[in-house]
Amino acid sequence: MHLHGDKPVDGNAVAGLFREVFALDLTTASLICAGCGAEAEIGSVRVFGGTMGAVFRCDGCDEVVMRLVRTPDGYWLDMQGARRLFARKVG
Ligand SMILES: [Zn+2]
Repeated sequence: MHLHGDKPVDGNAVAGLFREVFALDLTTASLICAGCGAEAEIGSVRVFGGTMGAVFRCDGCDEVVMRLVRTPDGYWLDMQGARRLFARKVG
């Protein structure tokens, strides 16, 4: 990532950072619910769904914390129910 001082750049400047984050095993990432603040590993969150995608629900308040959908053209990741996600680097 090459960001310089206070001058804004466009999203292309973080392409490498995106590649780093989405290459990680996100099942071990911590997700914080926007509704109640509960924190859980994604791999331990209750998931409902089928072949097209998944709905992740908080164990604390049962709100939807994340939706992940596969379409013929790509993927949708809706995280409006999550306050933050922390993905730890491996190694
Ligand atoms: Zn919650």
